[in-house]
Amino acid sequence: MATALLIIDMLNDFVSGRMKCEGAKVILPNIRLLLDHARRKRMPVVHVCDSHYPGVDAELKLWGPHAIVGTKGAEVIEELKPIKGEYVIRKRRYSGFFETDLDLLLRELKVNRLILTGIDTSICVRHTAADAFFRGYSITVPRDAVATWDPADNEPTIKYLKEIYGAETLTTEELASKL
Ligand code: ZN
Repeated sequence: MATALLIIDMLNDFVSGRMKCEGAKVILPNIRLLLDHARRKRMPVVHVCDSHYPGVDAELKLWGPHAIVGTKGAEVIEELKPIKGEYVIRKRRYSGFFETDLDLLLRELKVNRLILTGIDTSICVRHTAADAFFRGYSITVPRDAVATWDPADNEPTIKYLKEIYGAETLTTEELASKL
């Protein structure tokens, strides 16, 4: 069985655009390091991306417009741009599993362990972790490769992921040395 690297919502709108998360720039080098590692080891890489229909998606009522289908804001940032052989899953809710083909993809790739990186730890990472746990995947969360809009939310959420979903939590450096 295999491990996949999931990069969640590292999109222009969230890194530098209309819903900018300051922490995104801080975690970027760590995600980049894991991405380089995954590419070298030919580990499956899945970019899990918000992709909303304006005037339709319920989530937009709560947050305002962001990651609108077909806009620059909905694209993965240049530094992490998907390359040939990587997967892009478009989601319309917080969880990467909800009404997407992420689970089918991971099962066909014989993946049983997910490394979750990106933003926001307490929203999309957390909901993706929940659905991953319910489906029997093991979860690893490098704590310096995930970030929240409110930095105070990050550590408590990582603790929650560890206690409730059995996530392995460690630093990027520790994780990279084990891959
Ligand atoms: Zn969204």
